[in-house]
Amino acid sequence: MARVLSSSVASWGWSWSWKPVRTEAWLCGGACSHEFNAHLHRVLTLGRSIPSIWRRKCFSSGNEPAESNHVTPMLRHLMYKIKSTGPITVAEYMKEVLTNPAKGYYVHHDMLGEKGDFITSPEISQIFGELLGVWFVSEWMASGKSTAFQLVELGPGRGTLTADILRVFSQLGSVLKTCDISIHLVEVSQKLSEIQALTLTEETVPLERDAESLVYMKGVTKSGIPISWYRDLKDVPTGYSFYLAHEFFDVLPVHKFQKTPHGWREVFVDIDPQSPDKLRFVLAPCATPAEAFIQRDERREHVEVCPDAGVVIQELSQRIASTGGAALIADYGHDGTKTDTLRGFYEHQLHDVLTAPGTADLTADVDFSYLRRMAQGRVASLGPVEQRTFLKNMGIDVRLKVLLDKAGDPSLQQQLLRGYDMLMNPQKMGERFHFFALLPHQRLHVGSQGGKACQSEAPSTSVPGFDELVWH
Ligand code: SAH
Repeated sequence: MARVLSSSVASWGWSWSWKPVRTEAWLCGGACSHEFNAHLHRVLTLGRSIPSIWRRKCFSSGNEPAESNHVTPMLRHLMYKIKSTGPITVAEYMKEVLTNPAKGYYVHHDMLGEKGDFITSPEISQIFGELLGVWFVSEWMASGKSTAFQLVELGPGRGTLTADILRVFSQLGSVLKTCDISIHLVEVSQKLSEIQALTLTEETVPLERDAESLVYMKGVTKSGIPISWYRDLKDVPTGYSFYLAHEFFDVLPVHKFQKTPHGWREVFVDIDPQSPDKLRFVLAPCATPAEAFIQRDERREHVEVCPDAGVVIQELSQRIASTGGAALIADYGHDGTKTDTLRGFYEHQLHDVLTAPGTADLTADVDFSYLRRMAQGRVASLGPVEQRTFLKNMGIDVRLKVLLDKAGDPSLQQQLLRGYDMLMNPQKMGERFHFFALLPHQRLHVGSQGGKACQSEAPSTSVPGFDELVWH
């Protein structure tokens, strides 16, 4: 292909001059100042295998980006793309880098855990998934014990969270015995779906596979529950469902905008003319269509907007409003206050977003105020509440005590305590992560016919996690 640097995109009808912008602003986003390094041992059922050294996505050891800038297949692909059609939006960059079916970061490798690039709460402690399992059972009871429900997880990673939830369902078998449960996983990664199948299904029962079908894999869980895999939420059957998204929304692509004296300008990714093997951020010389996503009264100087998150929330809201259920979303994020949070992670270290694309994770804080707006009043929203508040309300202290008593062995007890500290400590994950829920209006306002409940209205019925869990 002819070498057409994007500075000459005028020949493609672009007469703009693209202003370079400093990239440093997007390296750390001011959100990663806590250095954190810990030896952590995951204790699932006592005696399960345990990872050791790790550092959480949001706790970087430093602000230095990785030096390596080798030309990855993804970088080559992006360069061709930019040379032929001009600079690309940050959202397109993120989407290509993370989920391009041929070369995307998430598609072909396992990045979770000690040997990967980051580790998540379900991988840290079994208690996390167990409490979420209790949340779903409690919501099922509060909303009238339907005869069937689907548990739908978006971006299930290694399947650990669903596995911990299913253990709770088995333990509460006497409560759920009349209920027909099925599991539905929405996953774009071929590699991770294989790992999820290993975690969740019985090896002796073969999986049905059909790459061409919307349901690309099907099987039965170790506890005998039907389980299916999809690439898109839209393909999951409708019906009474509980939806779960843990660290899913933060990997959806964001558009970035900078306020300038001439109005909002979108940030794009271009080839660096000084160094043709490198990418750089540039500002669009005039308004772009995605600017429509910015609120009229926006006061920040820099904003990130995630339309894909809006699409998922609208789909969830519509489903919950028409067929019932609930959605529980947990992620790091803010309530419409933060600015530039896009960052990269490679081997538990911060990584320059534009360096060696396809080899590192890209993530941006979730804007919960945007998610709430996107629900458009179809359902009620609760939260965001801090993770430590949510888990406390769900009874994490009681569960920890039971496990400590059962553990006996002091080293296992230490591991449990370290896991608890990671999840709950305000300096670690306790305050950084938040829980947010979507529920049918009737759930909060018993007797009302679906008015416009919103977060500010005091719920007439308490919802565990957001209030203290009370078993009836
Ligand atoms: N929830 C897991 C994993 C979080 S990592 C945990 O907390 O441990 C993000 C997950 O989302 C991965 O499983 C990744 O493959 C998946 N994913 C990323 N983009 C996706 C998309 N557009 N659609 C579906 N899954 C996606």
